[in-house]
Amino acid sequence: MFSAKELSTWKEKHPLLKQIINVEPVTWLNSNLKESKHIPKLPFTKADIYEAEKLWTRFTPFLKKAFSELEDTDGFIESPLKEIDELKIALENTYDSKIDGKLYLKMDNELPIAGSIKARGGFYEVLHYAETLAIENGLINYNENYEAFLTAEFKSFFQQYAIGVGSTGNLGLSIGIMSAKLGFNVSVYMSVDAKQWKKDLLREKGATVYEFSGDFSEAIYAGRQETIADPKGYFVDDESSKHLFLGYSVAALRLEKQLEEKSIKVDADHPLFLYLPCGVGGSPGGIAFGMKMIFGDHVHCFFVEPTHSPSVLIGLLTGEKEKVSVQDFGIDNRTEADGLAVGRPSSFATSISDHLISGIYTVEDDELYKLLTMLADYENIYVEPSATAGLIGPQQVLSSDYINKYGLDKDNATHIAWATGGDLVPESDMKQFYQKGKSVLNRA
Ligand SMILES: *Cc1c(COP(=O)(O)O)cnc(C)c1O
Repeated sequence: MFSAKELSTWKEKHPLLKQIINVEPVTWLNSNLKESKHIPKLPFTKADIYEAEKLWTRFTPFLKKAFSELEDTDGFIESPLKEIDELKIALENTYDSKIDGKLYLKMDNELPIAGSIKARGGFYEVLHYAETLAIENGLINYNENYEAFLTAEFKSFFQQYAIGVGSTGNLGLSIGIMSAKLGFNVSVYMSVDAKQWKKDLLREKGATVYEFSGDFSEAIYAGRQETIADPKGYFVDDESSKHLFLGYSVAALRLEKQLEEKSIKVDADHPLFLYLPCGVGGSPGGIAFGMKMIFGDHVHCFFVEPTHSPSVLIGLLTGEKEKVSVQDFGIDNRTEADGLAVGRPSSFATSISDHLISGIYTVEDDELYKLLTMLADYENIYVEPSATAGLIGPQQVLSSDYINKYGLDKDNATHIAWATGGDLVPESDMKQFYQKGKSVLNRA
């Protein structure tokens, strides 16, 4: 942690840090945001997203056979985009401010198998690794049918290899489920905030679960050390992974298609706003990158973090990125939003987001529960607390200077709150979430 003197120097340099350190909700607009034509060279291009999409397509025969829930979609893993008009009216009344434009929910809470956004990045990284091993060892080539990944020959081949991951929960679920299905020896290193049912489910699927009393960074550190000590070990590193990032970015191609299908225009007169719940910054970063590559300056990406875990916000605001943690600033990283309970941002994702994202706002845990219950009451959609964070985005942004600063036509705006998880949450846990939200609403 920084000394009192260092902290006061930081606060002088960035006055918003005062509120951030006091864990008050803030809205920060990114002064490093660049116009598309001025974005510095990035580690990936649009072509890389199309390549990643091709990998997904090669694996569809395998996915369709391996997971019965993918039969109807021919092995593709995607979620609906839904207009949430009833909730929009309720939000306007509850927060006493109008939402200009239309409000949609991107329902990654319904992503098959993993029940969260980690089905994008986590599955992609495991499939990418499996494909690389299979090709290097002459088991398959790109043009063959990937149903072969289900055969005993492939499974016993993958059994020689170990995959490890550190996780607060959802990433572990996605890596654990897909790795075990392919035959890998998979170990998940979980932080203190990981829910018991996630550990149970993983063990049931055949993963080994290690529990840590510390936070996410500790679980990652231990997992990384253990895994790389094994010459046939591969560590999925949420703090720096390029593959996770690319897997997430494919969401942009899918969303582009859904927007077209719904005749939703995105251009200079029709701005698109995305509100993305953020942990290490990988999933929101990958999606923001993909969307910027497609829609350029017409898409405006905002991240959302809990007031107690504003790791990407502090990283970008100070410019120190992964070199600082929220704990360095005396913030405890304690939040019920386990998907977002991250004290230190991803190095890889955060340096890309630096020039692409419009801003970040923070939200209190009570607010998340309240939004969870409202979404259930008005739309009959049940998500986990982390996944609700985007829902107050439109009102945060519309009431900031952002619209005027960029001269945007807010009446023609489309707002998309990204619901990042929830489908695997057991009913009894969901009931408790709902009740908590009810009591917050009743208090108001
Ligand atoms: C992981 C996760 C996020 C955030 O993704 P990061 O890559 O950690 O930023 C948001 N919501 C849920 C439900 C998650 O599981």
